[in-house]
Amino acid sequence: SRAFNFAAGPATLPEPVLRQAQEELMDWHGVGASIVELSHRGPEFMEVAAQAEADLRRLVSIPDDYAVLFLQGGATAQQALMALNFTSPGQRVDYVVTGHWGKTALKQVRPYCDVNVAADGEPGGFRDIPGRETWKLSPDAAYVHYTANETIHGVEFHDIPDVGEVPLFADFSSSIASEPLDVSRFGLIYGGAQKNLGPVGVAVVIVRRDLLERAGQPRAEILDYRAHLKGDSMLNTPPTWNWYLAGLVFKWMLAEGGVEEFARRNARKAGLLYDVIDHSGGFYRNDVAVAARSRMNIPFFLHDPSLDAAFLERAAQNGMISLKGHRVLGGMRASIYNAMPEAGVQALATFMRDFQQRNG
Ligand code: PLP
Repeated sequence: SRAFNFAAGPATLPEPVLRQAQEELMDWHGVGASIVELSHRGPEFMEVAAQAEADLRRLVSIPDDYAVLFLQGGATAQQALMALNFTSPGQRVDYVVTGHWGKTALKQVRPYCDVNVAADGEPGGFRDIPGRETWKLSPDAAYVHYTANETIHGVEFHDIPDVGEVPLFADFSSSIASEPLDVSRFGLIYGGAQKNLGPVGVAVVIVRRDLLERAGQPRAEILDYRAHLKGDSMLNTPPTWNWYLAGLVFKWMLAEGGVEEFARRNARKAGLLYDVIDHSGGFYRNDVAVAARSRMNIPFFLHDPSLDAAFLERAAQNGMISLKGHRVLGGMRASIYNAMPEAGVQALATFMRDFQQRNG
């Protein structure tokens, strides 16, 4: 009776994960209490946490010279913390902005850094990635930041940009673990878990260990990545429930065949929806340049916005929910992360063709 949920985040979780969590919720392995009622420093949760890190390392092929942190504050907090941890006061940082989330990242660092917008897709309506040859990078930047997948605008990098010697920092909130990734090309990768990795409430930071030796800016211990690493991401009470659930999602992804398998599934799923849109004779429209289209979030518009409400209502009646586009863009958006089964995307494609036939 579960609907196909196309929400952008918090997003759908794999059904086997929800079932396992339901089964384990009342009594963790005979202890007589739930894992979320036990101390984060007790052997039960310490084991859950260590296993989650080991599984994430395997899933994403994280080299040993990278640290993994499980933190609170979502992706947005990390956007501010990267300035505090890796720049000196007022130091130059380079930002490549290809959508709404790249812009929010800028806001978080402006109080601490000299921000250079090295490339900006906004004048073009965030419909493409500015050509690499147009980027104005600074040789003395502390890092270069970009958003691997723009969740609202549906713009995705399909290659890792070459930025020379300056460490590359990337927001992978909405595409981490969706395909194989060469982590060694990055200084730092971060993301909120609530799209591909699990429930909202925990963020993952993958950072090259040598960068943690940078002095950074004056900051409290709780804002210090080095301290978090030393304290096993448990400087204070961590979000144990979220961490545990994310761990179940990592195990599920590994059992399903890992990132190689999800890359194949995700390519098929996205291909199916873009095909319906592109062959609709203009009834549906996606404005993103083909080479920059997202595999995870597909924004689209009906040629006649007065049909939007009927589209959403009929979709819900057919068991497909959360298709309304983000308020920044309007229209529709189908978010099809790893946990969205191919059957869900096939159902949506069939529905879209049928809706066009009835209303075209
Ligand atoms: N970056 C991207 C690409 C996102 O999609 C989002 C949220 O949807 C964020 C950052 C903000 O994440 P959070 O809400 O975890 O702070």
